[in-house]
Amino acid sequence: MTRRLGSGSLVIATHNAGKLKEISALLEPYGMKCLSAGSLGLPEPAETGTTFVENALIKARAAAEASGLPSLADDSGLSVAALDGRPGVYTADWAERQWFEGEPGRDWYMAMGKVEGALQAKGADVLRDAWFSCVLAIAWPEGDYAIYEGRVDGTLTWPPRGEMGFGYDPVFVPTGREQTFAEIAPEEKHAISHRADAFAKLVAEQFGS
Ligand code: IMP
Repeated sequence: MTRRLGSGSLVIATHNAGKLKEISALLEPYGMKCLSAGSLGLPEPAETGTTFVENALIKARAAAEASGLPSLADDSGLSVAALDGRPGVYTADWAERQWFEGEPGRDWYMAMGKVEGALQAKGADVLRDAWFSCVLAIAWPEGDYAIYEGRVDGTLTWPPRGEMGFGYDPVFVPTGREQTFAEIAPEEKHAISHRADAFAKLVAEQFGS
């Protein structure tokens, strides 16, 4: 049986302030006191896994071992059916500028263009199906762990549309909608996203009756 958190401290294994705030707001109603890996001075491990599950577990386990507390980590990304699931775990890497592409940093328009270029190279009638994945991993210092996988399906559009959201949102149209994730109000996106799906599964198993 999956181990449950109960109430108490939980380390959120992220150095991203936005993610910490969002995750804390979701879990504090269940009695969790969320601490950030950054505020505890925990190191960020290299994400050397080849799947979302492996990377989420690497981050959760590293934080649990270093802090002695249960820890939660996430990993997410975009997979494109016609590209055999790429960029997948390398979603953020596809946005990393190369030395010949200007200042170091991430450029999401460039990344969306790379995905579109790879798709168009497959031909005009290529299947444009894609999905966002989010994996949440909880690791306990004693070695137990729990995994929750969320997903939202859709299609890729071109050119990018919308000003809201982040990352690949302007090219992703969720199934059953006509607007991209960047044209949908954040509350609406948060209700149907891969992250919402993964958190609903976590809350049901960890805090459900
Ligand atoms: P990570 O989970 O922080 O490693 O990020 C993976 C990358 O996937 C992010 O940098 C985003 O580009 C992309 N991604 C994950 N979730 C979303 C989303 O909801 N919208 C758009 N892009 C996303």
